[in-house]
Amino acid sequence: MSLAEKIRQVEENIAAAAREVGRDPSEITLVAATKVQTSETIREAIAAGVKVCGENRVQEMTAHLADNAYEGAKLHFIGHLQTNKVKFVVGRVDLIESVGSQRLLEAIEQQAAKVGVVQDILLEVNVGGEESKSGVSVAELPALAARAAELPHVRLRGLMAIPPVAQNEGENRPFFAQMRQLFVDIKEKMDDNKSVIDCLSMGMSRDYEDAVREGATLVRVGTALFGPRPPMGQPG
Ligand SMILES: *Cc1c(COP(=O)(O)O)cnc(C)c1O
Repeated sequence: MSLAEKIRQVEENIAAAAREVGRDPSEITLVAATKVQTSETIREAIAAGVKVCGENRVQEMTAHLADNAYEGAKLHFIGHLQTNKVKFVVGRVDLIESVGSQRLLEAIEQQAAKVGVVQDILLEVNVGGEESKSGVSVAELPALAARAAELPHVRLRGLMAIPPVAQNEGENRPFFAQMRQLFVDIKEKMDDNKSVIDCLSMGMSRDYEDAVREGATLVRVGTALFGPRPPMGQPG
């Protein structure tokens, strides 16, 4: 299958999963996870209909930006972000999906104030409670969300999660359902003039249909579009 055909296939799967549970497919946006792809492939994906690219390495993203590779699409930062690299990301992407600590949140606020922008963000939740993963714990989420709401140069748009790697199909549905509940709770508390809580980012190549069934508005898909990647190297 060509890249264009794979994109269409994934979009059809998203739409089918949405209809299964009575959702309007237009509520869900495919985020193409473009890590390790070339600028040429990114352009090909956008020409074939990809509306949002998700990057998780600062260095690659900076090179693609210099290349104008994302022209015609929105850009989300979805990877682990070190506070010393915030300056390369704030104001350059439409949404930072992976804000998982107060330290990072405050660094984003500072940089956004400095360059005079209001940066849209999602809070990343470590929904599986895994030691190895970044993201705020479920217990600490309300306090972090409350802090985000206080900051003038940050606009909280919702939540993101990367659940544990599932061994069997369907295994992550309870985590997705839990995220959906956290999203509804935050929305009830936080929706105001400043914060429009409308993004729930969850689901990757192996489980995006389940994530859609449980309420995802953004699914981040790499392998199902671009094929397998070489093993992960150094984080960006
Ligand atoms: C790479 C990546 C994805 C996509 O993963 P696939 O399994 O290839 O679909 C999604 N989210 C994040 C944060 C990623 O880094």
